[in-house]
Amino acid sequence: MPQEIFCGKTDIGLRRSNNEDAFIISPELGFCLAADGMGGAAAGELASKIFADTVLEIFADSTDQSEKEILYRVKKAFSFANEKILDHATQNPNHEGMGCTAELLAFCGDGFALGHVGDSRTYRFRNGQLRQLTQDHTLVQQQIEEGLISSENIRNHPLRNIILRALGQERELALDLLRGKILPGDLFLLCSDGLTDMVQDDQIQEILSSDIDVHRKADKLVESAKAAGGKDNITVVLVAIA
Ligand code: CA
Repeated sequence: MPQEIFCGKTDIGLRRSNNEDAFIISPELGFCLAADGMGGAAAGELASKIFADTVLEIFADSTDQSEKEILYRVKKAFSFANEKILDHATQNPNHEGMGCTAELLAFCGDGFALGHVGDSRTYRFRNGQLRQLTQDHTLVQQQIEEGLISSENIRNHPLRNIILRALGQERELALDLLRGKILPGDLFLLCSDGLTDMVQDDQIQEILSSDIDVHRKADKLVESAKAAGGKDNITVVLVAIA
């Protein structure tokens, strides 16, 4: 059975006065998550915390590690957290519009299940190559897919921050659910857009390729985002498969 080494870091960045991101790493329960809150200070922070707490609750509730159960848990965590955030916003109108984007990666045997909503991302680094496993749910990404704009120069696109999907927006949540196999040597990266808006994929790949341990890699990713301006909160979660 492959062994996973988990590491997570979050940083407020250089421009924001609070950190609306959240992460959890749980080697015991075999999952990790990263979430990025939106909706203004207190509300954004609360939305990502609701997601994190809900996932923890659901994963702590069962010891069944079958693939079917893991997939069920990932789906359930997203839909329960979505309901909770919407209910909270209904009861607290000053928090209207609160939500979060989220990545949830759970392992079972030699496989994984990945839930994704929004513009946080999950990457897999394998054999020296970085691959983005998730598609951003953003207007810009949709326009790229429709061939309306090219993927170059979108970093400064005026509409790059428009998110098409997030938790806490609609009762019916469209979740991207991916699954795959893990191999020894794989390295998974979950991150908020505070990393990817600041640091290009080739630089991320270079850091993940370097001959340093996983904790140092996480530090370097955060340092690079800050060196590039640190405009937003930065969260990175790394899982190394041994
Ligand atoms: Ca963000």
